[in-house]
Amino acid sequence: MSIKNICCLGAGYVGGPTCSVIAWKCPDIKVTVVDLSVERIAQWNSEKLPIYEPLLDDVVKECRGKNLFFTNDIKTAILEADLIFISVNTPTKTFGNGKGRAADLKYVEGAARMIADIAQSDKIVVEKSTVPVRAAESIQNILYANNKPGVTYHILSNPEFLAEGTAINDLLYADRVLIGGENSGAIEQLCKIYEHWIPRKNILTTNTWSSELSKLAANAMLAQRVSSINSLSAVCEATGADVSEVARAVGLDSRIGSKFLQASIGFGGSCFQKDILNLVYICECLNLPEVAAYWQQVIDMNEYQKSRFTAKVVQALFNTVSGKNIALLGFAFKKNTGDTRESPAIYVAKTLLDEGATLNIYDPKVEESQIFKDLTHPSICESPEQVRKTVKVCEDAYSATKGTHAIVVCTEWDEFMVLDYKKIYDGMMKPAFIFDGRKILDHEKLLEYGFHVQTIGKQLRKPTPPPRMTNNHHV
Ligand code: ADP
Repeated sequence: MSIKNICCLGAGYVGGPTCSVIAWKCPDIKVTVVDLSVERIAQWNSEKLPIYEPLLDDVVKECRGKNLFFTNDIKTAILEADLIFISVNTPTKTFGNGKGRAADLKYVEGAARMIADIAQSDKIVVEKSTVPVRAAESIQNILYANNKPGVTYHILSNPEFLAEGTAINDLLYADRVLIGGENSGAIEQLCKIYEHWIPRKNILTTNTWSSELSKLAANAMLAQRVSSINSLSAVCEATGADVSEVARAVGLDSRIGSKFLQASIGFGGSCFQKDILNLVYICECLNLPEVAAYWQQVIDMNEYQKSRFTAKVVQALFNTVSGKNIALLGFAFKKNTGDTRESPAIYVAKTLLDEGATLNIYDPKVEESQIFKDLTHPSICESPEQVRKTVKVCEDAYSATKGTHAIVVCTEWDEFMVLDYKKIYDGMMKPAFIFDGRKILDHEKLLEYGFHVQTIGKQLRKPTPPPRMTNNHHV
């Protein structure tokens, strides 16, 4: 048997791009992506996809209606499928045991129960969500406990390593594909799908637990690098070292490597924090408190970096931002995505609002409704009306900065590097401040224009004062 029909439960950041690439690379396979949300599916079937990813539009346009389908008809999709991906959300629990840290597996469980209810024939069920160790076991337990005669399930773990903003490229040129499971026949079937475009030597097979833990380990280690360089950025600011120089010098050591050594206001996104909190929680449950404390520190350092940066903004603005108008450039957690989950910009905005500032926010890909949703979330603010009064979402960087006291760069969008900062300076209140939380701007140029500039991991000189009047001018 070879796989002819794939169903994917969950049309989100993982399921959508992954299945679009599978459909594109495997024209002989029918791929149906389903979701509980009618709105999400309608968006996938429209001109404006629900998520922004470079190249995603092209891939979807190429395949949609041919061998790639988006639908709410979950039942038919499950019945037809030989292989089912589960890529539903795994949010952090907001209640009960493990609150704030453990993953809430209710959607994974819901998906497994749907399969158990509907399936009439053998299925390979592939866990693809960012899920903590043991999710495959839960899926297996549910499916086996509800077994029907003549239906056999094989459960595999196939974690996704794509990064938002580069999802399509990451999928097309994956460093490795990881498949965990106990049944070699099922593993082989999934390998064959990936072999349409991934060389066999880059497809790794392991046991289920290794596969699941590797996903958490990869994210924990990446986040750890960011926290490590961010911790050193504080040392640089205190000593006169430059964190970019340090990162370059360290990164050229081939044992260390140069990636993920960019100091910033801190990492965000739906995975790093969530996965580490998960790892910490799992370690505590396994009675490994030292291991738990070790990884918790990666999160603590990230919190410290965000608060340190924001405190610096307030301090530079003469210790008060009350009544001041500040422009936030960027709201997404990184460039090339419209995703704001755990974005450091939310923390920066919240703190400045708490301190009494009014904000102009501009992000090239984040919708106004999303910004208000994030800033009025009950965990962020007590008074949504107040937020609506004090936050303005702007159409571009020029209107966002006009008349403001300060600019805070929160996301490293390329377009922020090429703005006309002379023009921006002229339109701002004086003294004009700029805080580069992503180290992307030409600081020397900004100083020349007259900006007071602060960045991460480097002390900068004061702007050159305007030329002093000499006596000659008074005659
Ligand atoms: P991720 O970033 O992990 O892809 P998202 O939140 O972007 O997570 O997407 C998960 C999607 O899964 C959501 O659109 C949600 O509606 C969907 N979903 C949750 N449970 C089910 C289910 N049982 N069947 C189908 N889709 C589901």
